[in-house]
Amino acid sequence: MSSVERLAEYECGRCGRLRRFFDRWPDGYICRPCYIHATRIHGTCAGCGRQRLLPGRDTGGSAICRDCAAVPRSFDCVRCGAEGRLYYRKVCIRCRLHDLAAERLDDGTGTVRPDLQPLVAVLASCYKTPPGSRLAWLNLGRTKQLLAALATGRVAVDHAALDVYPDQRSIPYLRALLVAAGCLPDLDRAMHNFETWLRNRLSKLAGHPHERVLRQFGVWHQLSKMRAKAQQQALSPNARTYAVFEFNRAVEFCTWLAEHDHRLDQLSQPTFDRYYGGLSTAYRQSLRGFLNWAITTKRMPRLQFARPRFRTGEALDQQRRLDLLGHLLDGDDQRLAPRVAGCILLLYAQPIPRILAITLDDIVRTDTGVVLRLGDPPSPVPEPFADLLLRLADQRAQAGGDRWLFSGRSIGQPMSDRGLARRLRDLGIPPASRANRRSPPTRPRGSCARRFARTRLPPHDHPPPKPPRRRHLEPLHHHQDLTNQITRLDDGACCST
Ligand SMILES: [Zn+2]
Ligand SMILES: [Zn+2]
Ligand SMILES: [Zn+2]
Repeated sequence: MSSVERLAEYECGRCGRLRRFFDRWPDGYICRPCYIHATRIHGTCAGCGRQRLLPGRDTGGSAICRDCAAVPRSFDCVRCGAEGRLYYRKVCIRCRLHDLAAERLDDGTGTVRPDLQPLVAVLASCYKTPPGSRLAWLNLGRTKQLLAALATGRVAVDHAALDVYPDQRSIPYLRALLVAAGCLPDLDRAMHNFETWLRNRLSKLAGHPHERVLRQFGVWHQLSKMRAKAQQQALSPNARTYAVFEFNRAVEFCTWLAEHDHRLDQLSQPTFDRYYGGLSTAYRQSLRGFLNWAITTKRMPRLQFARPRFRTGEALDQQRRLDLLGHLLDGDDQRLAPRVAGCILLLYAQPIPRILAITLDDIVRTDTGVVLRLGDPPSPVPEPFADLLLRLADQRAQAGGDRWLFSGRSIGQPMSDRGLARRLRDLGIPPASRANRRSPPTRPRGSCARRFARTRLPPHDHPPPKPPRRRHLEPLHHHQDLTNQITRLDDGACCST
């Protein structure tokens, strides 16, 4: 190829745009974007019927393999033989990632430190992020510095050392990689994020007239409450977000007190009402934590503040619930995960955080069918939903990595609450808080969960019935006739007839 040819612009044989020369294949000049696109298509060749990379085009425009299209370029990795786009020294992206990771984690002797070897493997094969993103991350200046510090021992491989590393931008991703590689133990991320956030926030409050009380609220009250909760189960990302909200509302309230020369311990009801009355419902709700704590610990007089009332939205009646279920059971495979989550929400009336906590081990095949471990005892899974659930579980098991049924994009984490709520909304399921809310005419007397619990406890162990904090739809599987209706959806019977 002459230099004139290299610099001139040609009409691309694929996209028709005038672009700089990149390659010339039997179907014409190929621009760089079309080349990159062509090296991503894998499938059955329309010419020879083999499973291969399909960069070529036949006369009808179908994708065909390199041999059938007579493309004069090899796409075979010289290291592992895989077919695909080739990088530096004619290796595929996985081999390139492996080389680059090993280079970045060189401890100065030309080899990777033995305890960081698993990190190289995770960087080369991690299924969660696209390989291109990992390559770009490895090429960032700050990543090079961070990995070199880790490899040479200037930064220890532990959570505390990562917490105090000056440039925190690459730390969350590196931490997740180290956990996935088994180089670091897992930690409760919501808890850890809040601790780090609170430390930074408190350092910025130095000199604030109410710094002391805010520190006590954050460290003594919020942190210890979260730690106690985390002992029971991993915190959801929402727990961190809510704690941040609570703390920020407390800071705003204390700043207002300071600006207006009011003392917290001598605050009068009319003065407090002036502030509280001007807040939105969401702000009032998140200030309540601080107010209750300040009153119980006698840092503030016992003032009255009304409990905020949220709009309740429409309730979902049984018929609409069945219609939605029918719609979910008929969907396409691309949306399998949100469809399964939607069915669990509609069938078992579970809140989103509980749905996200389901792992592959919670789905059990028994002699009589499939059961889902949402609590004790496990809930039976009616057909045709059982088929859908098993399909998703098989897909997830094949993909590997973590055991979450609804695996998220962050390594080792399930999908986010918000992400799942958005996907459910896209499928036509109203926000979970509304879908889960009871519909008065169809709800039998007493909370289903309580009635269910009552049947399972000996009479003398019976706890005094507490009013349910959130009113849920009764899980459908407790109604045999409704389960039958769902099963009939599979036979083509329309639920609304
Ligand atoms: Zn093109
Ligand atoms: Zn072929
Ligand atoms: Zn390779």
